[in-house]
Amino acid sequence: MGIKYKRVLLKLSGEALQGANSYGIDPEFLRRLAQEIKSVVELGVEVAIVIGGGNIFRGVSGATQGMDRATADYMGMLATVINALALQDALEKEDLQTRVLTAIEMREIAEPYIRRRAIRHLEKGRVVIFGAGTGNPFFTTDTAAALRAAEINADVLLKATKVDGIYTADPEKDKNAKKLDKLSYKEVITNGIKVMDSAAVSLCMENQIPIVVFDVRKPGNLEKVVKGKSIGSLVEGEQL
Ligand code: UDP
Repeated sequence: MGIKYKRVLLKLSGEALQGANSYGIDPEFLRRLAQEIKSVVELGVEVAIVIGGGNIFRGVSGATQGMDRATADYMGMLATVINALALQDALEKEDLQTRVLTAIEMREIAEPYIRRRAIRHLEKGRVVIFGAGTGNPFFTTDTAAALRAAEINADVLLKATKVDGIYTADPEKDKNAKKLDKLSYKEVITNGIKVMDSAAVSLCMENQIPIVVFDVRKPGNLEKVVKGKSIGSLVEGEQL
Protein backbone atom coordinates (compact mmCIF):
# COMPACT_ATOMS: atom_id res chain seq x y z
CA MET A 1 0.00 0.00 0.00
CA GLY A 2 1.32 3.40 -0.95
CA ILE A 3 1.43 6.53 1.11
CA LYS A 4 -1.45 8.96 1.29
CA TYR A 5 0.48 11.91 2.64
CA LYS A 6 3.87 12.76 1.16
CA ARG A 7 4.73 15.69 3.42
CA VAL A 8 3.47 15.68 6.98
CA LEU A 9 3.62 18.08 9.87
CA LEU A 10 3.64 16.11 13.10
CA LYS A 11 2.63 18.01 16.23
CA LEU A 12 3.99 16.43 19.39
CA SER A 13 3.03 17.92 22.71
CA GLY A 14 5.69 18.29 25.35
CA GLU A 15 3.64 15.97 27.50
CA ALA A 16 4.06 13.25 24.90
CA LEU A 17 7.79 13.20 25.66
CA GLN A 18 7.07 12.75 29.34
CA GLY A 19 6.00 9.16 28.73
CA ALA A 20 5.17 7.65 32.09
CA ASN A 21 6.94 10.43 34.02
CA SER A 22 5.18 13.45 35.50
CA TYR A 23 7.80 15.93 34.33
CA GLY A 24 10.60 16.17 31.79
CA ILE A 25 11.61 13.63 29.21
CA ASP A 26 11.29 9.86 29.17
CA PRO A 27 14.26 8.59 27.11
CA GLU A 28 12.67 5.20 26.53
CA PHE A 29 9.53 6.75 25.08
CA LEU A 30 11.66 9.07 22.96
CA ARG A 31 13.56 6.09 21.58
CA ARG A 32 10.36 4.33 20.57
CA LEU A 33 8.98 7.52 19.04
CA ALA A 34 12.15 7.96 17.00
CA GLN A 35 11.72 4.44 15.63
CA GLU A 36 8.13 5.19 14.65
CA ILE A 37 9.29 8.32 12.84
CA LYS A 38 12.06 6.39 11.14
CA SER A 39 9.55 3.87 9.79
CA VAL A 40 7.65 6.59 7.92
CA VAL A 41 10.80 8.36 6.69
CA GLU A 42 11.83 5.04 5.17
CA LEU A 43 8.55 4.97 3.26
CA GLY A 44 9.59 8.23 1.59
CA VAL A 45 7.45 10.54 3.71
CA GLU A 46 8.86 14.00 4.39
CA VAL A 47 8.51 14.67 8.11
CA ALA A 48 8.47 18.05 9.83
CA ILE A 49 7.79 18.21 13.54
CA VAL A 50 6.56 20.96 15.83
CA ILE A 51 7.28 20.13 19.43
CA GLY A 52 5.55 21.58 22.47
CA GLY A 53 7.00 22.42 25.85
CA GLY A 54 4.27 21.63 28.35
CA ASN A 55 6.35 18.91 30.03
CA ILE A 56 8.76 21.62 31.19
CA PHE A 57 7.04 25.00 31.26
CA ARG A 58 3.81 26.59 30.10
CA GLY A 59 3.39 30.34 29.86
CA VAL A 60 -0.13 30.32 31.26
CA SER A 61 0.88 28.59 34.47
CA GLY A 62 3.71 31.08 34.99
CA ALA A 63 1.27 33.93 34.43
CA THR A 64 -1.24 32.55 36.94
CA GLN A 65 1.55 32.60 39.51
CA GLY A 66 2.06 36.29 38.91
CA MET A 67 4.69 36.33 36.19
CA ASP A 68 4.50 38.65 33.26
CA ARG A 69 2.71 36.61 30.58
CA ALA A 70 5.04 37.44 27.71
CA THR A 71 8.11 36.57 29.80
CA ALA A 72 6.51 33.31 30.87
CA ASP A 73 5.67 32.52 27.25
CA TYR A 74 9.29 33.06 26.22
CA MET A 75 10.26 30.56 28.91
CA GLY A 76 7.73 28.16 27.38
CA MET A 77 9.28 28.67 23.95
CA LEU A 78 12.72 27.91 25.35
CA ALA A 79 11.28 24.71 26.84
CA THR A 80 10.26 23.62 23.34
CA VAL A 81 13.87 24.05 22.21
CA ILE A 82 15.04 21.71 24.98
CA ASN A 83 12.56 19.15 23.70
CA ALA A 84 13.62 19.76 20.10
CA LEU A 85 17.23 18.94 20.97
CA ALA A 86 16.19 15.81 22.87
CA LEU A 87 14.16 14.66 19.89
CA GLN A 88 17.00 15.45 17.50
CA ASP A 89 19.33 13.32 19.59
CA ALA A 90 16.90 10.40 19.61
CA LEU A 91 16.34 10.63 15.84
CA GLU A 92 20.07 10.76 15.16
CA LYS A 93 20.56 7.62 17.22
CA GLU A 94 18.26 5.97 14.68
CA ASP A 95 20.58 7.23 11.91
CA LEU A 96 18.16 9.83 10.62
CA GLN A 97 19.36 13.15 9.23
CA THR A 98 17.80 15.99 11.18
CA ARG A 99 17.81 19.75 11.49
CA VAL A 100 16.41 21.88 14.30
CA LEU A 101 15.12 25.26 13.15
CA THR A 102 14.15 27.77 15.79
CA ALA A 103 11.76 30.71 15.56
CA ILE A 104 13.99 32.57 18.04
CA GLU A 105 17.58 32.75 16.87
CA MET A 106 20.11 30.69 18.78
CA ARG A 107 22.63 29.98 16.08
CA GLU A 108 25.05 28.12 18.31
CA ILE A 109 22.62 25.26 18.74
CA ALA A 110 20.20 25.39 15.82
CA GLU A 111 19.48 27.04 12.51
CA PRO A 112 17.22 30.06 12.48
CA TYR A 113 13.85 29.35 10.86
CA ILE A 114 13.96 30.13 7.17
CA ARG A 115 11.01 28.79 5.25
CA ARG A 116 12.79 27.93 2.03
CA ARG A 117 15.56 26.23 3.93
CA ALA A 118 13.06 24.10 5.84
CA ILE A 119 11.53 22.97 2.55
CA ARG A 120 14.96 22.19 1.12
CA HIS A 121 15.81 20.02 4.13
CA LEU A 122 12.56 18.11 3.68
CA GLU A 123 13.25 17.56 0.00
CA LYS A 124 16.60 16.09 0.95
CA GLY A 125 14.95 13.64 3.32
CA ARG A 126 15.96 15.33 6.55
CA VAL A 127 13.58 15.38 9.48
CA VAL A 128 12.96 19.02 10.33
CA ILE A 129 12.18 19.92 13.93
CA PHE A 130 10.70 23.35 14.53
CA GLY A 131 11.54 24.79 17.95
CA ALA A 132 10.40 27.92 19.82
CA GLY A 133 6.85 27.80 18.50
CA THR A 134 5.94 30.80 16.38
CA GLY A 135 8.51 32.95 18.20
CA ASN A 136 5.68 35.07 19.61
CA PRO A 137 4.16 35.10 23.07
CA PHE A 138 0.39 34.54 23.41
CA PHE A 139 0.50 31.69 20.91
CA THR A 140 0.61 27.94 21.35
CA THR A 141 2.63 25.27 19.63
CA ASP A 142 -0.63 23.99 18.10
CA THR A 143 -0.89 27.29 16.26
CA ALA A 144 2.80 27.06 15.38
CA ALA A 145 2.08 23.61 13.92
CA ALA A 146 -0.78 24.93 11.77
CA LEU A 147 1.32 27.90 10.66
CA ARG A 148 4.34 25.79 9.69
CA ALA A 149 2.10 23.23 8.00
CA ALA A 150 0.72 26.00 5.80
CA GLU A 151 4.17 27.48 5.15
CA ILE A 152 5.76 24.22 4.03
CA ASN A 153 2.66 23.09 2.09
CA ALA A 154 2.18 20.03 4.26
CA ASP A 155 -0.42 17.54 3.04
CA VAL A 156 -1.71 16.98 6.56
CA LEU A 157 -1.28 18.05 10.15
CA LEU A 158 -0.90 15.01 12.40
CA LYS A 159 -1.86 15.89 15.93
CA ALA A 160 -0.38 13.26 18.22
CA THR A 161 -2.31 12.79 21.44
CA LYS A 162 -2.77 10.34 24.27
CA VAL A 163 -6.29 9.39 23.16
CA ASP A 164 -7.09 7.60 19.94
CA GLY A 165 -9.11 10.39 18.35
CA ILE A 166 -11.80 13.00 18.90
CA TYR A 167 -14.67 12.03 21.19
CA THR A 168 -18.07 13.56 21.92
CA ALA A 169 -16.88 13.94 25.54
CA ASP A 170 -13.71 13.20 27.50
CA PRO A 171 -13.44 9.39 27.24
CA GLU A 172 -11.53 9.24 30.52
CA LYS A 173 -14.43 10.86 32.38
CA ASP A 174 -17.53 9.88 30.41
CA LYS A 175 -18.00 6.25 29.44
CA ASN A 176 -20.78 7.14 26.98
CA ALA A 177 -18.34 9.25 24.98
CA LYS A 178 -18.30 8.24 21.31
CA LYS A 179 -15.37 8.46 18.96
CA LEU A 180 -15.88 10.55 15.84
CA ASP A 181 -14.02 9.11 12.85
CA LYS A 182 -14.58 12.03 10.52
CA LEU A 183 -15.77 15.58 11.08
CA SER A 184 -15.66 18.92 9.34
CA TYR A 185 -13.82 22.07 10.37
CA LYS A 186 -17.25 23.66 10.76
CA GLU A 187 -18.38 21.00 13.24
CA VAL A 188 -15.19 21.36 15.25
CA ILE A 189 -15.54 25.13 15.51
CA THR A 190 -19.32 25.43 16.00
CA ASN A 191 -19.46 22.62 18.55
CA GLY A 192 -16.39 23.91 20.37
CA ILE A 193 -14.65 20.53 20.06
CA LYS A 194 -11.22 20.76 21.62
CA VAL A 195 -8.95 19.33 18.95
CA MET A 196 -6.47 22.17 19.05
CA ASP A 197 -6.97 25.80 19.98
CA SER A 198 -9.29 27.72 17.68
CA ALA A 199 -6.52 29.78 16.05
CA ALA A 200 -4.84 26.54 14.96
CA VAL A 201 -8.06 25.00 13.65
CA SER A 202 -8.94 28.22 11.76
CA LEU A 203 -5.53 28.30 10.09
CA CYS A 204 -5.92 24.69 8.95
CA MET A 205 -9.44 25.38 7.72
CA GLU A 206 -8.47 28.47 5.74
CA ASN A 207 -5.61 26.61 4.11
CA GLN A 208 -7.50 23.33 3.62
CA ILE A 209 -5.01 21.30 5.61
CA PRO A 210 -6.61 18.11 6.94
CA ILE A 211 -5.99 17.32 10.60
CA VAL A 212 -5.62 13.76 11.88
CA VAL A 213 -5.84 13.29 15.64
CA PHE A 214 -4.36 9.97 16.72
CA ASP A 215 -2.65 8.12 19.56
CA VAL A 216 1.07 8.25 18.88
CA ARG A 217 1.91 5.89 21.72
CA LYS A 218 0.49 2.88 19.94
CA PRO A 219 3.23 1.23 17.86
CA GLY A 220 2.58 1.33 14.13
CA ASN A 221 -0.07 4.06 14.30
CA LEU A 222 2.02 6.77 12.65
CA GLU A 223 2.73 4.49 9.70
CA LYS A 224 -0.96 3.57 9.40
CA VAL A 225 -1.93 7.24 9.40
CA VAL A 226 0.45 8.20 6.59
CA LYS A 227 -0.83 5.25 4.57
CA GLY A 228 -4.34 6.64 4.93
CA LYS A 229 -5.76 3.88 7.13
CA SER A 230 -8.64 5.04 9.26
CA ILE A 231 -6.81 5.58 12.52
CA GLY A 232 -7.91 8.30 14.92
CA SER A 233 -10.16 11.12 13.72
CA LEU A 234 -9.95 13.10 10.51
CA VAL A 235 -10.98 16.75 10.29
CA GLU A 236 -11.50 18.19 6.80
CA GLY A 237 -14.26 19.37 4.50
CA GLU A 238 -16.95 21.89 5.26
CA GLN A 239 -15.72 25.27 6.38
CA LEU A 240 -17.35 27.85 8.57
N1 UDP B 1 4.65 29.43 23.35
C1 UDP B 1 4.53 30.73 22.92
N2 UDP B 1 4.41 30.99 21.58
C2 UDP B 1 4.35 30.00 20.64
C3 UDP B 1 4.43 28.66 21.09
C4 UDP B 1 4.58 28.40 22.44
O1 UDP B 1 4.57 31.65 23.72
O2 UDP B 1 4.25 30.30 19.44
C5 UDP B 1 4.88 29.13 24.78
C6 UDP B 1 3.62 29.15 25.63
O3 UDP B 1 3.94 29.71 26.87
C7 UDP B 1 3.32 27.67 25.80
C8 UDP B 1 4.71 27.07 25.88
O4 UDP B 1 5.44 27.85 24.94
O5 UDP B 1 2.61 27.42 26.99
C9 UDP B 1 4.79 25.61 25.55
O6 UDP B 1 4.05 25.30 24.41
P1 UDP B 1 2.66 24.49 24.48
O7 UDP B 1 1.94 24.79 25.75
O8 UDP B 1 1.92 24.76 23.20
O9 UDP B 1 3.18 23.01 24.50
P2 UDP B 1 2.39 21.62 24.53
O10 UDP B 1 1.06 21.83 25.18
O11 UDP B 1 2.23 21.19 23.11
O12 UDP B 1 3.30 20.73 25.27
